[in-house]
Amino acid sequence: MAKTKKIIIIGGGIGGAVTALALNRTGFDVSIYERTQELKEVGAGIALWANATHVLNELGLLEDAVRNGCLTTNYQFNTQDGKELVNVSVDKFELPVIGIHRADLHKILCSQVTSKFTLGQTFERLEQDGAKVSVYMKSGLHDEGNALIGADGLKSQVRAALFGEVVPTV
Ligand SMILES: Cc1cc2nc3c(=O)[nH]c(=O)nc-3n(C[C@H](O)[C@H](O)[C@H](O)COP(=O)(O)OP(=O)(O)OC[C@H]3O[C@@H](n4cnc5c(N)ncnc54)[C@H](O)[C@@H]3O)c2cc1C
Repeated sequence: MAKTKKIIIIGGGIGGAVTALALNRTGFDVSIYERTQELKEVGAGIALWANATHVLNELGLLEDAVRNGCLTTNYQFNTQDGKELVNVSVDKFELPVIGIHRADLHKILCSQVTSKFTLGQTFERLEQDGAKVSVYMKSGLHDEGNALIGADGLKSQVRAALFGEVVPTV
């Protein structure tokens, strides 16, 4: 029997967690490395548009997200003194648009991930050799896999290691 491919993910935020979960569901061996000592998200809300709710639906987590969040019917933008500028209806998609606290979404995703999150490990560099990638953390820890996914945010060090430091554009 072919050996299960191992995927290393750097970053245990919403992006890392949902990627790990999708890979778990398709049978990959996944290791996630997160630089913080605790798995948590910032205390703010996030709007999940129909593309995101499609992903949650595929993962069987949409009902959980709706229960923890709130259905969004309209996007309304007003001036400071309350005059309506834009009012767009968003309740006509196949799946709902929802607003949810980031920490709640993160918790829902992480609770289903079957792989280990190794906390307190900051990615430093990588080496590629054929079908193998070696990953080195600042602590000296090192791991090897068949593929590496950088889910380490806007200032991704994985991206920088592959493509050089590039200032994000707006
Ligand atoms: C103000 C604001 C509002 C937004 N609102 C919305 C919205 O309503 N809807 C929407 O869809 N999107 C929204 N976005 C965009 C959305 O927040 C991001 O696309 C999403 O959070 C990115 O998630 P991520 O997991 O890829 O990255 P991040 O959330 O940045 O997570 C990266 C993780 O990697 C870890 N990490 C970083 N560097 C390393 C390293 N070297 N080694 C190990 N771990 C590392 C970090 O600690 C973190 O846990 C908003 C963004 C902002 C700024």
